Amino acid sequence: SDSHFPIPISPCQVDYSLHYPQLFPSSDKIDGAKKIQFADVGCGFGGLLISLSTLFPETLMIGMELRDKVTEYVKERILALRVGNPGQYQNISVVRTNSMKYIPNYFEKGQLSKMFFLFPDPHFKEKNHRRRVISTHLLDEYAYCLGVGGIIYTITDVEELGEWMKACLESHPLFEALTKEELEVDPVVKLLTSATEEGQKVARNGGQTFQAVYRRVMPSL
Ligand code: SAM
Repeated sequence: SDSHFPIPISPCQVDYSLHYPQLFPSSDKIDGAKKIQFADVGCGFGGLLISLSTLFPETLMIGMELRDKVTEYVKERILALRVGNPGQYQNISVVRTNSMKYIPNYFEKGQLSKMFFLFPDPHFKEKNHRRRVISTHLLDEYAYCLGVGGIIYTITDVEELGEWMKACLESHPLFEALTKEELEVDPVVKLLTSATEEGQKVARNGGQTFQAVYRRVMPSL
């Protein structure tokens, strides 16, 4: 249950020195220091973070994962990469948490520039739709944490869930779809199918995927 993992009471309580020790040698708060900008929600085994780490070496990122053992695996994986590649992979970390409850405990208003929801659990039954990580209500929270211009990336191999995520985003006043041209030039879009363990599994099986990529916009008057 949630009581087994610590939860920061506010974003300024997140100890960056634990997550990024080389970049933050002490836990003293340094005003104006860099903050986490990318969140991979339900990061699973961490493949996306690892790909993003070298693509955006100056950006701090975190994976959020509910399963304890999976989180520990990702921690070990990152540590091993740090040891094997001195100076690299210092900008990624993982935290065990329930993202559906605690996102605002980790990120301030407008702090994030990218959020990822890759191959989330489908929760097929109607009565379980409230467990889906994308919903109108949760999009309000994600819009709060994303800066204007920030991007939310979603992908699934479950067509019904893909339609659901797209419909939630489409109807939300603070999100607007990226154009085909914008999707083509965004290097991150290619990683959605290739970088995560789940994406690779779907690709191996020749499965179809359904993505929705939206930008956080200002409310229109
Ligand atoms: N994104 C990864 C990928 O594409 O390989 C993992 C996909 S896996 C199907 C979904 C992951 O979301 C699981 O690892 C699960 O434990 C995690 N998850 C489910 N609900 C969550 C929640 N409320 N908070 C954090 N993680 C959650």
